[in-house]
Amino acid sequence: MPNPVSRQLRLYNSLGRRVEDFVPSGDVTGMYSCGPTVYAYQHLGNMRAYVSADTVRRALRWKGFTVRHVVNITDVGHAVADTDLGEDKMEVAAARERRSVLEIAEFYTQAFFDDIAALNILPADAYPRASAYVPQMIEFAAVLEARGYTYRLPSGLYFDTAKFPRYGELAQLHVEGQLEAARVEQVPGRRRKTDFALWRTEEPGRRRVLRWDSPWGWGAPGWHLECSVMSIALLGPHFDIHTGGVDHRELHHVNEIAQSEAYLADGKPWVRYWLHNEFLQLGGAKMAKSAGGAPLLSDLVAAGYHPASFRLFLLGGHYRSQLEFSTAAIDAAQATLRRLAARIQPLRPLPAIETLDAAQAAAPDPAAARALDQIDAAIAADFNTPKLLAALSGALRDPAITPDGLRTVTAAADALLGLGLASLDPADLDPADLGRRRAADELTSEDRHAIEELVADRTEARKERDWARADQIRDELDALGVQLTDTPDGPTWQLR
Ligand SMILES: [Zn+2]
Repeated sequence: MPNPVSRQLRLYNSLGRRVEDFVPSGDVTGMYSCGPTVYAYQHLGNMRAYVSADTVRRALRWKGFTVRHVVNITDVGHAVADTDLGEDKMEVAAARERRSVLEIAEFYTQAFFDDIAALNILPADAYPRASAYVPQMIEFAAVLEARGYTYRLPSGLYFDTAKFPRYGELAQLHVEGQLEAARVEQVPGRRRKTDFALWRTEEPGRRRVLRWDSPWGWGAPGWHLECSVMSIALLGPHFDIHTGGVDHRELHHVNEIAQSEAYLADGKPWVRYWLHNEFLQLGGAKMAKSAGGAPLLSDLVAAGYHPASFRLFLLGGHYRSQLEFSTAAIDAAQATLRRLAARIQPLRPLPAIETLDAAQAAAPDPAAARALDQIDAAIAADFNTPKLLAALSGALRDPAITPDGLRTVTAAADALLGLGLASLDPADLDPADLGRRRAADELTSEDRHAIEELVADRTEARKERDWARADQIRDELDALGVQLTDTPDGPTWQLR
């Protein structure tokens, strides 16, 4: 049984906007994360939410909590531009790609699974599809209607936010004028701008592809409904943690709370801890598909980057800070990861460690125990991954830690970071694109920097008398057309 002190985990709760101790409600910590709408590839900005949720999940495991994690797959009901009227994203995509809605959903769901596997994200316990829960959504909406929380319009069944006094608490909105910034369109007959569709009845003469019969006519559920219905179905009426991107804090999650608490009607908060990650920025603006040019993980891989380099780049920022994506930043992350992998390679195999208790039970030397404390303190302080990375780097430079201690510390850190340090091959982390640009005779300053990094790695390896590693780097440089000469003042290089 872990002791209470080792279980302390502080997190920033969007509900109330303050840092709190995490106290689970039962033996199993229920956690729900808003997942992808599978009408297109998920871009790198979307991936930040899944890596952030994975960090939370790993931190809970580290602290000895048993987690049940659910991530939804939205394959119906999400209208273009997140609005209540208009076309469904899935159907627009199907028409664009001349494929069936089911084919579209299957294709992009698989692409999502491929991406999260490449990023070493722990699989969720369940990935419910919205289309499989429509009867339950209809029942849920019918209960809200019976309780007087709704009104009917020709375009569907609407949640009457005036009937829910705590509406907007999460977003800290102040009734009228709220959501001006959000994408809210004019809906004829809607009483308040904040009212939202629980059911979207199809227009006469415009038959939807995915359609269900309901007390409010043929149509499809509103987008917000699925998360309440599926989380309650799979995690119970109340659960501990709900995560998502910070954009959901202002609208989607506000609506999830209103309809869930109106449905449960037990006077208790539906979910106690709400965690939101900040955006990934591109060129100073939120990375978004609609803005165009949002890169995908597969784009990075095609350009020669390892998915773990992108993961390290994300973890190098705190999840609640905006992070600017750039080629230079991802180059730097790949170079850092390469150095880490090269440093750790001679320590392998690493022990299997997932929890603080297991790390402490490995009885490391005092210097390693201090490093473990730093790692634990970093993750317990609202998932401070930049500090955790610094603690790992510090430990790897600390001459007082024994090799066994380093193995324990590295395995422990990576149980939280998920970089795959137990097996990453430095040769898979060579500077991206270098060979290709060299062939095209376009050596940029970044390329020069990347070569300098390799030369420095080799010098480091020689200093540590790791001759195999030093030779390997020389071979890699050779393959890139770089000729290395060792001089009394250190190595110099030139292109052949
Ligand atoms: Zn959701």
